[in-house]
Amino acid sequence: MRVDPATQARLLELAELDGELDRVRHRRKNLPEQQVLDEREAALQAAKDSLVKTQMLASDLDREVKRQEREVESVRARADKDRKLMSSGAVSAKQLTDLEHEIGTLQRRQEALEDDLLELMEKREAVAIDERKSAEAIAAAERAVAEARAAAESALGDMAQTEQKCEADRAKLVDELPAELLELYDRVRQARGRGAGLLRARRCGACQLELDRVALSKVKAADPDAVVTCDNCGAILVRTAESGL
Ligand SMILES: [Zn+2]
Repeated sequence: MRVDPATQARLLELAELDGELDRVRHRRKNLPEQQVLDEREAALQAAKDSLVKTQMLASDLDREVKRQEREVESVRARADKDRKLMSSGAVSAKQLTDLEHEIGTLQRRQEALEDDLLELMEKREAVAIDERKSAEAIAAAERAVAEARAAAESALGDMAQTEQKCEADRAKLVDELPAELLELYDRVRQARGRGAGLLRARRCGACQLELDRVALSKVKAADPDAVVTCDNCGAILVRTAESGL
């Protein structure tokens, strides 16, 4: 393959564009903004789950409070009935004693139930505070997610722009290069990551390895139109005035 040195030198532009495209694609895959977004979305989900649990606890307690209130009411109603009966004058002395005894028992039962009810209501109030806190935590987590999403979208947008520009430039450049040269470049690039590098200070610009004396003298002896490659990485070695040959 014979390609004039000026055309060979254009491979450096191509390698530059491919390098930029690789960097953009690598960055997209490992986007720190995306990681922050993922973490914040997980935190938001955890906050929502926590609220659901608290709400379930709240409705359990509401049910229990109602049940306890009904229980207190029924005990109170029974005691009232007994008192009415006592004051009706229509009961015997024996019945009166029994009623007094029962009212005492009911009174104690009502007090115990009311104590339990109070405890339940205190618990319910504490849960209400937890509910408010959970709702606030969710609102804060939602704001954090929105911020992280905007940052990720902006970073992705910038990358898409860079990628589009590089791809357009690459397409234009590829049109101007000989097919055979491109084929070699693409093959090496696919196999080794970089298709071409500038030879400078005896070093291959693709793999950064220094050429040994034998390799260097082979490159020196090669015709300027010849396409030479790096013995180490296979990249096309582009020779320019900078190469110091
Ligand atoms: Zn190399």
